[in-house]
Amino acid sequence: MLDTQHDEQFLLGQVHKAGGKSFYDVWTSHRIPGSPILPVAFRALHYSIETTISSNNSLDATTSVRLRAETGTERVLAFQLSRALTIDSVTGERGESLPFFQNEGMSLQERSVRGNDYLDVVLPQTPAGRQEFTLHFHYRGNVIQDAGNGVLFVGARESWYPHLGDSAEFSSYDFLLRWPRKLRLIATGSKLEEHEEGEFRVGRWKTEKPMSVAGFNLGEYASASVASGAHSIDVYANRELEEDLRRRLASHDADALTLSSRRFGPASTGHSVVPPAPSPSPADALKQLGKEIDSSIGFYETFSGPFPFHNLSVSQIPGTFGQGWPGLLYVSTYSFLPSEAQQRAGLSTASQEHFTELVPYHEVAHQWWGNVVAWSSYRDQWIDEAIANYLALLFADTKKNPDHTLHVWLARYRQQLVGKLSGATEAAGDIGALALGSRLNSSKSPQESRCAIRRSPANAGDKVRLPRTLH
Ligand SMILES: [Zn+2]
Repeated sequence: MLDTQHDEQFLLGQVHKAGGKSFYDVWTSHRIPGSPILPVAFRALHYSIETTISSNNSLDATTSVRLRAETGTERVLAFQLSRALTIDSVTGERGESLPFFQNEGMSLQERSVRGNDYLDVVLPQTPAGRQEFTLHFHYRGNVIQDAGNGVLFVGARESWYPHLGDSAEFSSYDFLLRWPRKLRLIATGSKLEEHEEGEFRVGRWKTEKPMSVAGFNLGEYASASVASGAHSIDVYANRELEEDLRRRLASHDADALTLSSRRFGPASTGHSVVPPAPSPSPADALKQLGKEIDSSIGFYETFSGPFPFHNLSVSQIPGTFGQGWPGLLYVSTYSFLPSEAQQRAGLSTASQEHFTELVPYHEVAHQWWGNVVAWSSYRDQWIDEAIANYLALLFADTKKNPDHTLHVWLARYRQQLVGKLSGATEAAGDIGALALGSRLNSSKSPQESRCAIRRSPANAGDKVRLPRTLH
């Protein structure tokens, strides 16, 4: 592909099938030497989002985006928006309806398989350079998934509202969210107020400073708070485990019971069989985790400057990944469990240490490294990941076994680099340079990365803006 509209105008790649999945492997992508750097055509100045989450978790939302034309040469705007959300209308400042393209010609079912998470809007004419204007979007759909036992998560994490472009541009936000009364909801930014309205709760938030992305999390949470210095920390977790994890613990307990009755025989059940341990609740860990997170903030401030927000909300997310939003963390359920339960769920010693000692604190470090210092291209994103992880390791090292944790983790990482990831054809260190960023998620390494400060909406190809028909 040769396209002068792209930042990296030359791209060579191939569709490749591996492990039953289709990948678009990028062989090379680069700028043409001597070509001028194209300025960005539009900037989003402010997002105003109003979203209602109904009792079946579907969204009905309107978003108004204040934009500024920078170049005065373009009249098509590309937004990220989850394919699971259907646009009802896009209107301009005078209420005129504007043409848009969103997985045109596909049914909802086709979209989920081969659609993309983009929305293109066409303006009636090219706005002059520096001209400001507002677009209004109305859309509906379901981006909140239920992991069982009332554990919910936002599946389309960055694309639950129309977000301009692919880059880490900073904008201000205000939002109003309405959600079922039985749930608690937390979001990026400062909460202005919250009240009840019939079967719903309604809350309003506003950013303290420009942010590159806005998000929220919700659930039947228990919570605990720690206040210290200029900031406060609130930790939220579900009282119940997500279904997948509950089942894994239950099957482990059943195995253990079978094993012990075999060993001692049915006659000895009266004194030898240990009853299965009670199901752990992620909510048990709240206060302790809050204190540890506060202590990591103090540690990081020495290296990175004052904590950038007034409040940090730490919330549980089912599965194995984490994400550090501005003022809001998603932390894996595993990080809320005691090591005994982690072990029963089948985690290795290294995985237990990963979830307990690193994951929450890596996400805390992203408050500076990612949400204050962002990146200008996919080639730089690894720097924020590396600094966040390095700081988390230094913090872990201060807590226990001085000079032990860092040493052990560096040896593990070295081992991971020379070994093969599951499903990969080459050693991790041979797949490509770190600066290739999301392009490393190719058919050579089908595994997803564990932490995302901000992820591309579909596959790695989106980061280099491939011809969309190839997805
Ligand atoms: Zn990270």
